Amino acid sequence: MTDCLFCKIASGAIPSKPAYSDDEVYAFHDIAPKAPTHILVIPRRHIPKLADAGPDDRELVGEVVARAAAIARELGLDHYRLVANNGEGAGQTVFHLHFHLLGGRPLSWPPG
Ligand code: AMP
Ligand code: ZN
Repeated sequence: MTDCLFCKIASGAIPSKPAYSDDEVYAFHDIAPKAPTHILVIPRRHIPKLADAGPDDRELVGEVVARAAAIARELGLDHYRLVANNGEGAGQTVFHLHFHLLGGRPLSWPPG
């Protein structure tokens, strides 16, 4: 999708600070970090939100989640949170599926 911020970031049309890249998955540092580590992990394929992931996306979504865990492991995070805001009411502002990997500080529960 041409008019999508994260598609443009994944393609390199808009710069970002990369954390991981392969043919299917891209990860980059959030521009407004909410924790010492705040990385966004996305599929390169445009899926607006988790609820839109269909049967053909199952493997890809699994890869994105597994990659987030691998990034956390490589960073040595002993605890972290992986969260996808689904829909405006949950705080989603960019409608290209992304998982927030947050770590490096105590994380309270429940989130607001
Ligand atoms: P959400 O509110 O769950 O849709 O998350 C969107 C996230 O994208 C927010 O945490 C923003 O800070 C982040 N963000 C927005 N624009 C950029 C950008 N150009 N580069 C990196 N992160 C961004
Ligand atoms: Zn997109």
